[in-house]
Amino acid sequence: MSVKIDALRRPLVQPRPTRCFASGPLRPLYSQRLPQRAVALFAIRTLVTDNKQTTPKTKQYSAIVVGAGASGIAVTGSLLDHLGHGSRIAWVDPDFLGGRINACYREVPSNTIAQTFLDYGKGFESFRRAAQAMSEPNGLTKLEALEPKSTCSLHHAGDMLQTLSDGLRRDERVSGLKGAVVKASWAKGLAEWAMTIQGKNSKSPTTHHLVAPLVVYCTGSHPATVKLPTPSTETPKNLGLDDVLKPSVLRTTLPKDRPVTVGVIGASHSAILVLRNLLDLARDSHPQLRVRWFTRHTELKYAQYMDGWILYDNTGLKGLAAEFGRQYLEGDQLAKSGAGEIITRVDCSGGAEQEKAAFLRELPQCDHIVQAVGFTRNELPEMEAEVEFDNTTGGFVDRATGQKVPGLFGAGIAFPEKVTDKAGNVEYAVGFFKFMKFLKRVVPSWVGIDQKPAK
Ligand SMILES: Cc1cc2nc3c(=O)[nH]c(=O)nc-3n(C[C@H](O)[C@H](O)[C@H](O)COP(=O)(O)OP(=O)(O)OC[C@H]3O[C@@H](n4cnc5c(N)ncnc54)[C@H](O)[C@@H]3O)c2cc1C
Repeated sequence: MSVKIDALRRPLVQPRPTRCFASGPLRPLYSQRLPQRAVALFAIRTLVTDNKQTTPKTKQYSAIVVGAGASGIAVTGSLLDHLGHGSRIAWVDPDFLGGRINACYREVPSNTIAQTFLDYGKGFESFRRAAQAMSEPNGLTKLEALEPKSTCSLHHAGDMLQTLSDGLRRDERVSGLKGAVVKASWAKGLAEWAMTIQGKNSKSPTTHHLVAPLVVYCTGSHPATVKLPTPSTETPKNLGLDDVLKPSVLRTTLPKDRPVTVGVIGASHSAILVLRNLLDLARDSHPQLRVRWFTRHTELKYAQYMDGWILYDNTGLKGLAAEFGRQYLEGDQLAKSGAGEIITRVDCSGGAEQEKAAFLRELPQCDHIVQAVGFTRNELPEMEAEVEFDNTTGGFVDRATGQKVPGLFGAGIAFPEKVTDKAGNVEYAVGFFKFMKFLKRVVPSWVGIDQKPAK
């Protein structure tokens, strides 16, 4: 799929540096085998302390999963499959509503086919149990009714996530806690993480303390924005990418009865969907809407279906975005298709100076600007160490010492796997089924079942 992570791709203009991690001295690190040792430790403790408060409001778990989007759901499912019957998983999210897919992308066409969502939805034993616990019809059964080889609206994928999320929370080994993890610290003596959670649903926020030897961050990302080289005249107002991906919101945001120009920056999957939404709007109900499309690329990049593998699987256009690109944007199609009456292409190719000149020249013509320049990680809980994600193992490494951080892992759009395709292209694997594939490889080593470290 073609979502871009800002850290993984140079955006159109250079972003201000963002710090994802709290800094400070790192505690000494421990054995690579720690998760296994810690799971064993849990097994002993659980006989005496399972579900009891070790200190007021402090509860002991086998694992804590932070976030309940597509990746948090998959991590919870995978841990249920791998940890023993006596295990307990604390699962923390402010809402348990399926993450960003349901919050922001229900009106977005998918870039993967319905069958891929089904492969995810049935990919763990725990998922199959969770679905059985839910009455029918549900998000999974509705997905089964779709044409499997076709793409679909992401609301179908979102409904499936909701079904799995609700079903997993009914599992007696899972404790769902509504709130946000705000702080994480490693307790050396106990070889476990202590997490502080700010409860969501109360007037005076409650604080919970959980401990576990294994913690997985599935905390997601949000659209990145960059500082634009603005002219001295008034800067155009930013339209949030999330809103422009919702035609129902876009329709009411922009005026119908007067000229309005929207600048769109980028050529990624999201940028092309934004152009598609704006063109539809101009043709349907907003005849005075015009678009300036700022792009560095003279040609769009498409996913190419090879013999058993996909070239540019994570960075090329797919589905309706690819169709739209070919029909309206590629080569001289803007002029030929008539879309050029609405969309004007602004050439930002040729390097930083040319790009800056294009912005200084064209931005004054825009009333609004939409940045589709990648995604940036959501802020992580406060931590004592400054850590870096290892996108081959799913673990974290201390930036100061280069050593592995015990018991801490990540997954999902914020922490994707690094993959190299058959043509040697390096990409970051973002998408429901890709998260699952990564987890199937690495979770056994996280929980100490696999003796070999994940490659
Ligand atoms: C436009 C677009 C189209 C896409 N289309 C497809 C597609 O067709 N097929 C596909 O497979 N993928 C698609 N994707 C990618 C995929 O949907 C996303 O990558 C996926 O939703 C990311 O899931 P996630 O769980 O990593 O993050 P999120 O969905 O963002 O979930 C993160 C969760 O963590 C919670 N959280 C964050 N911080 C904390 C904290 N401190 N404490 C507790 N909770 C916390 C958040 O509230 C949220 O609920 C698309 C993405 C985009 C942007």
